[in-house]
Amino acid sequence: LVEGEEELLLPRYVRVNLLMMTPQQVIDAFIADKWEFLPAPPSPPAPPGPNTFHRDEHLDFMLVFPPKSDLHLHPLYTSGVLILQDKASCFPAAILSPPKNAYVIDGCAAPGNKTSQLAMGMGNSGKIIACDLDLRRLNILKRLTTKAGCTNITALNTSFLTLDTSEPDNRKVSHILLDPSCSGSGIINRLDHLVDAYAEEQEQATILETTTTGGAAERAEAEAKKKERLLSLGEFQVECVTKAMTFPNVRKISYSTCSIYAEENEHVVTTLLRNHWPKWKLSPRSRVLPTWHRRGYPADVGDIPGLVETDEDRAKVADCLVRAVPGGPEGDLMNGFFVACFERVGKNENPAL
Ligand code: SAM
Repeated sequence: LVEGEEELLLPRYVRVNLLMMTPQQVIDAFIADKWEFLPAPPSPPAPPGPNTFHRDEHLDFMLVFPPKSDLHLHPLYTSGVLILQDKASCFPAAILSPPKNAYVIDGCAAPGNKTSQLAMGMGNSGKIIACDLDLRRLNILKRLTTKAGCTNITALNTSFLTLDTSEPDNRKVSHILLDPSCSGSGIINRLDHLVDAYAEEQEQATILETTTTGGAAERAEAEAKKKERLLSLGEFQVECVTKAMTFPNVRKISYSTCSIYAEENEHVVTTLLRNHWPKWKLSPRSRVLPTWHRRGYPADVGDIPGLVETDEDRAKVADCLVRAVPGGPEGDLMNGFFVACFERVGKNENPAL
């Protein structure tokens, strides 16, 4: 593939904003606009052909259009009904799935697509505190969530790591979504509408991927730098989830990255389980997109005394995790992604996986 060609293979995923319209209303509008609605996704998996679209088989609010479909001027896009969001990026909020009236924190929230998806799932009830360190990106979040008709979001320009867990609203928090800074190494769809908001992750990804040029010494140096950067990202990611676990009434925490590297994915999960099991465990596959085929990598799950000691245990942990492999046709026709969901273990509950 020449540079940029792989992104052409990715479908254009569209999240229907249920705060404004139903998927069926949107489907009818496109059919009236001379688009052909396919009753099922192509098999074997492939993007839909020109001028055709279908519903997504895993996410009921998602429609799938041909690669490069330009919907920016479509009235349903400009009015906030259609949200251009990669399929994998919809997984964390769908998995966390806070109930109506819940108190929720989106800890690393900007530019805010997942925040607006949380508000949609909660029907604008309860409260979402959307926290981000970067004011420029937080302003994008405010714009994006206002356009999407979200009314239950409070944006906070501060570090999630410094939030006061004894503050009255924070004491009520039951669900936390954490999508912290990562290497961005899974992102291949550079044509994404939010390309400006993803620029930082993409720059990081470029730094990480420059290891194939130059001589042997340069390559070794770049490889060492990459390793160091991944380890430091992993430490930050562990710190974020550890902080989330200190909220007194939090029950469920989703952790996600758009990274392909185990250092930010299975290794982070292993460290967290090692430090916090049996008070916290992974949500079982039955509550983490059970019909999604691509799970974590067992070989990258580390030992945890009392919980993970055999290959069978590693396979059980990996089965609780969700991965998406970037690109196609071998990949999952989306950006690379990873999600884990932690649940606090109740007093009389079995902490086993
Ligand atoms: N969840 C976002 C979405 O779906 O649109 C994308 C989040 S992006 C991967 C990571 C974000 O974490 C960046 O916007 C970055 O500014 C923010 N961030 C990094 N460190 C942070 C911290 N200590 N507290 C809060 N936000 C932080």
